[in-house]
Amino acid sequence: MATQSLQPPSAPKSAVSEVHILWITAGLSCDGDTISVTNAEQPSIEDVVMGAIPGLPKVHLHNPVLATEVGDEFMEFFYQAEKGQLDPFVLVVEGSIPNEGIKREGYWAALGTNPNTGQPITTCEWIDRLAPKAWGVIAAGTCATYGGIHAMAGNPTGCMGLANYLGKSWRSAAGLPVVNVPGCPVQPDNMMETVLYLLYQAAGLSPMIPLDEQLRPTWLFGKTVHEGCDRAGYYEQGDFAHEYGSPKCLVKIGCWGPVANCNVTKRGWMRGIGGCPNVGGICIACTMPGFPDKFMPFMDQPPGASLSSVIVVSYGSLIRSLRSITNASGNKEPRWRHRRPKLTTGYQPTSY
Ligand code: SF4
Ligand code: SF4
Repeated sequence: MATQSLQPPSAPKSAVSEVHILWITAGLSCDGDTISVTNAEQPSIEDVVMGAIPGLPKVHLHNPVLATEVGDEFMEFFYQAEKGQLDPFVLVVEGSIPNEGIKREGYWAALGTNPNTGQPITTCEWIDRLAPKAWGVIAAGTCATYGGIHAMAGNPTGCMGLANYLGKSWRSAAGLPVVNVPGCPVQPDNMMETVLYLLYQAAGLSPMIPLDEQLRPTWLFGKTVHEGCDRAGYYEQGDFAHEYGSPKCLVKIGCWGPVANCNVTKRGWMRGIGGCPNVGGICIACTMPGFPDKFMPFMDQPPGASLSSVIVVSYGSLIRSLRSITNASGNKEPRWRHRRPKLTTGYQPTSY
């Protein structure tokens, strides 16, 4: 997978000791990414904001679901950032971005109220105000990265992911593109590890974050679900589940793991536990830009899977029978382990 060849910002200019994270949850979403991230442990939100990690800048997190401030007191941070009083700051956007340009009246999504007009300030307007001033911008979860469920065919909002809204060539004040961390919801440690990386980069302690063509961190999304799946051994042997509850490979009941870039089968969901197919759920490819339309209807066998699984069935049944012979042999002890009076190990005494 190709990676972005981006020039890092100059170290002295980018090295900072204090960073604000302004987290907008007012895209079209369920706030599930924020909830998910409260489960992060590698690192946890607490470790990041309490300064428990050596080398990190001091972090001030402003997320409406987690903040102690409410109403105007919370919104004040956004106005300060707009005026350049919170530099540097990282903007995190959660939820897909509606196309307000297609509306003649009303709005799709907003955060706070314009004191001059008494009208809501749309999410798009906040992005327009803050993104150009942000040190870096992270799209959290599949809705913010690629549009997700809200952006399905037939939707009325014309919504999209943040990189489509800002433009693929968009760069932050520090020269970064939008950093995409997809997942429905985002895997908590994937999100916090990305935040951690960017904080280290802001502190001048790490190079430019490596991203793939879909702007995902390469170390998190470089492999497929299938490559880390606990059930991959069953796939290889052509041993498939035909109903839920089986420990075998789920491809025939709709698993998209062989083509979905995601690490939860390796990483699990919380404390290494979970990871959709590992625990019995098919992969519906929720981290992918084509989600959900290109992977529907869910629970049908993916198109390529019929051909590949037919080939695997014939090859796999041969491998399985050969392995069962080797397995039976390996389960027997060697014949020379006995207490008969004659040694049968093949030992040849050396004569001097
Ligand atoms: S369950 Fe899915 S990810 Fe796991 S081995 Fe089967 S096809 Fe691959
Ligand atoms: S395994 Fe599939 S459905 Fe589960 S989080 Fe990863 S991409 Fe999404």
